[in-house]
Amino acid sequence: MIRYRYTIKGIVQGVGFRPFVYQLATKLTLRGFVHNSSAGVILELEGKVKDIELFDECFLEELPPLAHIDSFEKHPISVQNSQDFEIIQTSSNDLKTTLVSPDIKVCDQCLEDIKTNPQYQNYFATNCTNCGPRYSIINTVPYDRKNTSMDKFTMCKHCQKEYDDPTNRRYHAQPISCNDCGPKLTIYENGTPLASNDPYKTVASYIKDGKILAIKGIGGFHIVCDATNDETIKALRKYKNRPSKPFALMCKDMDQIKHIASVNQTEQKLLSSKEAPIVILDKKDTNSISDLIAPNIYKIGCMLPYTPLHFLLFEHLDIPLIATSANLGGMPILKEKEQIEKLLPFIDIVVDFNRDIINAIDDSIVQVIYDKASMLRLARGYAPKVIKLPFSIDQKILAVGANSKSTIGIAFEDTLILSPYIGDLDHLESFEYFLRTIETFGRFYDFEPDIIVHDIHPNYETTKWAQTQNKELIAVQHHLAHIYALKAEYNLQNNDYIGFSFDGTGYGLDKTLWGGEVFLNDNRIYSFHPIALLGGAKAIKEPRRVALAALFEKYSLEELKHMSLPTLEAFSSTELQLLHQSYTKNINCPRTSSVGRLFDAIASLTGVLQNISYEGESGLRIEALYDHTIKESFTYSIKDGCIAIDYLEYIVANPPSPTKICSMLLNTLTDIVIDIAVLYREPILLCGGVFQNKTLLEILLPKLEQNQKHYYLPRSIPTNDSGIALGQLYKTILKLQKDNL
Ligand SMILES: [Zn+2]
Ligand SMILES: [Zn+2]
Repeated sequence: MIRYRYTIKGIVQGVGFRPFVYQLATKLTLRGFVHNSSAGVILELEGKVKDIELFDECFLEELPPLAHIDSFEKHPISVQNSQDFEIIQTSSNDLKTTLVSPDIKVCDQCLEDIKTNPQYQNYFATNCTNCGPRYSIINTVPYDRKNTSMDKFTMCKHCQKEYDDPTNRRYHAQPISCNDCGPKLTIYENGTPLASNDPYKTVASYIKDGKILAIKGIGGFHIVCDATNDETIKALRKYKNRPSKPFALMCKDMDQIKHIASVNQTEQKLLSSKEAPIVILDKKDTNSISDLIAPNIYKIGCMLPYTPLHFLLFEHLDIPLIATSANLGGMPILKEKEQIEKLLPFIDIVVDFNRDIINAIDDSIVQVIYDKASMLRLARGYAPKVIKLPFSIDQKILAVGANSKSTIGIAFEDTLILSPYIGDLDHLESFEYFLRTIETFGRFYDFEPDIIVHDIHPNYETTKWAQTQNKELIAVQHHLAHIYALKAEYNLQNNDYIGFSFDGTGYGLDKTLWGGEVFLNDNRIYSFHPIALLGGAKAIKEPRRVALAALFEKYSLEELKHMSLPTLEAFSSTELQLLHQSYTKNINCPRTSSVGRLFDAIASLTGVLQNISYEGESGLRIEALYDHTIKESFTYSIKDGCIAIDYLEYIVANPPSPTKICSMLLNTLTDIVIDIAVLYREPILLCGGVFQNKTLLEILLPKLEQNQKHYYLPRSIPTNDSGIALGQLYKTILKLQKDNL
């Protein structure tokens, strides 16, 4: 007879971990107890040595689906002759440092219950310990019903029985609810509740009739409509002032997705995963969806149903649906019916229910690059994202991230936590959501920062906010933060790397705008030849201005008059004259080394587009034109650390063929990375928004491998500005570690 005490850390609370331990222990006739504590789950087991050994084996192999163990310690203590095994309820309120689980797709057993179990039959909010809402409904930890938005619903006898039974799948499932006692669904037509005997059929019929609906999901509302109906989509684009940005689809099942897009095994696995993200797929040439969903690009974002409500609706629908976050461009997803009515008045039908969303959270977006998943938007199912350090820190650190695709990050002890995607902070609503997220994380983790880390950009809202907080401040350069986000993901601690940080524009250490930087161990050794942004921020929306500035640099106005290029045709002669003046007088035309802007220049010069309607559009359009049979590149030079590509001479001398030139751009960027990489023996880091470009990476990565170069690429953390907060944290932590030595 022997007794052990275990301390288990990770995501082990609110995920069915204690009942799992209970069942395993009783099966092996072990005695003792299990309970939650602020240090994690405490478990004591008493029994025969061989049974405890068996327990250890099974315990790691048969974990409940949502549990995740970061560490466990075990040491022998004196035998206490316990009579049975029990789950001890935790009354203490100080379970603050336990981790909050993300929201998870409805499980197969709950879907079965919806079909066959009278208690849950057709019930849209069915859930259990293995599935359903978590982060989105939690007010504060510990994760108990009273700390969630389920607090106001009293369990019926049936639910209470399941909740109290350690052998039941719903033992301590905090959001447990059923037809009798749980949240109720209401359909509103123009603000008036609608009576219906079969609400799912009613909603489906509205969709089939071409209406635009708002349907409440896990972390907010979706705008939903028929993805095959041109007229409805045209109207939606007009209402949302969203001329071309692609819409995501929700499809009935995998077969339906396969009619719309090619799906490989990795993508299929992601689509069917418990996180159920939007996966960016290669669109097929198909008439099974409207051409207006993703105009001019060969990609499409698809997801599968993930709440019981989605599944119940699809019982009455065979068409794919547009399911886009209900918001106005760049703003956070809306989570209340009243907000929908106020901000999106064009919506006829609102499908609501009275379980409040406490923490709004968008759908996550993932794409598969070189057969591995790469996160584009970290949100539902994946966030809050936890990264463990191999050491502990003394300070509590808050990182406020960048300004667009904002997230926040916090660090304490050996834990880094990245928040879900917030949005673009130029909108007041997003900024409020940013403040709310800081508050929420403070509450969840009992967190009050000693240090705040921000970008060095003086005009970012996040920088300005940090400066009002009366805390120790640390500023981190934007493109180095991208590098350090990647280092954090792989726990790289040595300052020993060659890093390619290719991005949009960010504030540089020399106070110019950076965005095409090569770092050797934190030193900027190369950067791209700067292009002027004619009209400053305006040029970011209008690629034609970037291209024009590049032309002004090489040619006189007189010479340009004799050229015929799509860029020049996009301006009137008066505009050309005026812009030339501001260029020569250097009025409002800051220079930037951004690779993102290089994509813009090429997109304009080849006539692919002159103005963009969403961020990253040039890159997507250039990817769409890439032709694998074109092997040529532009020539380029590196002089005094400045990388200059000779694209203008080529384009001016040759009639611009978009396919050829766009392909040459991606080939040239590949050449540049390879040519530099082979000069160094350090591992290669690839990061920044440009490396969301799947085509570029699928040309580049095999070449790096052919050259036996060891590289790192962001996978579980977005390589865009959503990763900045993590990089800010990690760079600060490594610096503090070094200072302490
Ligand atoms: Zn379930
Ligand atoms: Zn009930």
